[in-house]
Amino acid sequence: MQKHHFNQIVYYQFETLTAQQGILHGVFTRKGGVSEGVFDSLNVGSTVGDDQDRVIANRQRMAEALSVDEADTRTTWQVHGADVVRALPGDRPGGPPPKADGIITNVKELPLVMRFADCVPIFLYDPSKNAIGLAHAGWRGTVAGAGIAVVTAMMKVYGSQPENIIAGVGPSIGPCCYEVGPEVIHAITETFGNVNDLIHAPNGNGVRSHLDLWAANERALRGVGIQHIEVARMCTSCNTHEFYSHRREQGKTGRFGVLISLGGE
Ligand SMILES: [Zn+2]
Repeated sequence: MQKHHFNQIVYYQFETLTAQQGILHGVFTRKGGVSEGVFDSLNVGSTVGDDQDRVIANRQRMAEALSVDEADTRTTWQVHGADVVRALPGDRPGGPPPKADGIITNVKELPLVMRFADCVPIFLYDPSKNAIGLAHAGWRGTVAGAGIAVVTAMMKVYGSQPENIIAGVGPSIGPCCYEVGPEVIHAITETFGNVNDLIHAPNGNGVRSHLDLWAANERALRGVGIQHIEVARMCTSCNTHEFYSHRREQGKTGRFGVLISLGGE
């Protein structure tokens, strides 16, 4: 990924998506916001105990960094499943956003936003149909097929062909740090079959196995015909100076934002 700065904000972009003309995107970090303490500082999560005015200010800063209007952004209430919603033009509805872990649109200047602290953000762009998608996949979402569900929705709603879709697997907790228990190993094995490349033996002084969510999601996307996949290979738990990590920070942390939008230029 390429690192970018806007005022005090630090964000990353996938090389493959940056090379595309039709979209704006960014994986934000925790840098450049107004939140304090464990939320220091660009927390965009409103359900983690941070001051709501600061969260709103941080969301404005994130939108400003990519020259989009925060009032146009669309998001979901992320619930670790695989439901997908379609973002449509018109006024943003009041109240909580729909419960879903995938969101798609083919409407310009309707930025899709999600929030992360160890789960995997999956970016999808189909330049031939001018459609975009975003998925949120922790281990539950990975088992449920959140990334696949977004690809399937893009195929069904916009007529996308998987071979035309460009995918980005963003920063999340990496195989270096993601210790998992038997219930997770069981669920991953049920979903993926051979897990030799997904589950690694304990390292260092650890006793638990490690799950590679990057490889699991890459394999899932390849399995539905996606050929162009850029994997960030950036671990949130190893890099809490830049990212929030729910695991490393024992739940007392914020959420960094990711955003993708069609057009705008
Ligand atoms: Zn790590």
